[in-house]
Amino acid sequence: TKFDSSHLPEGIERTFVMIKPDGVQRGLVGSIISRFEQKGLKLVGLKFMHASECLLRQHYAEHEGRPFFEPLVKYVQSGPVVAMVLEGPDAIKVGRLLIGTTDPSKSPPGTIRGDLALQTRKNLIHGSDSSESAQREIELWFGQRELVGWEKDSDKWLLERE
Ligand code: UDP
Repeated sequence: TKFDSSHLPEGIERTFVMIKPDGVQRGLVGSIISRFEQKGLKLVGLKFMHASECLLRQHYAEHEGRPFFEPLVKYVQSGPVVAMVLEGPDAIKVGRLLIGTTDPSKSPPGTIRGDLALQTRKNLIHGSDSSESAQREIELWFGQRELVGWEKDSDKWLLERE
């Protein structure tokens, strides 16, 4: 595989997060990225792009055939998005917790969707839901040379590393 996560320290994961076109249009890019940054997750990839239909069909392949699939692909293709890879302890689960539940009207306050969105389709953001989907999505959206591993000085105040 293109991205082997075996070089990461024990318990450290990478997850794929995408700010959808409503997040970009509503001027929420900075505040959404801030939430992950403030939590302590480390950015290792970040780009602003207009995703192609082909990329989005692959990204959402598991939903192909569902009634919301075509409108979903159309919506995420309707404008630029911000794609990122975040790294940290339990990054996949932690990322999903910060994002909230699929339906923003049921997502608790304090979550990105709970605080900033109202309806299921336009729910601002995507985050990988398992290590298999994280691996698949990172490989789909990023080239190897677009990911940057680095030492974050503040990790010593966030992580227990004997
Ligand atoms: N979605 C939709 N209608 C639905 C369910 C989902 O438009 O009934 C959209 C919504 O934008 C959601 C995306 O499809 O974020 C992917 O759905 P999934 O169930 O994977 O939700 P997520 O993992 O994003 O919470």
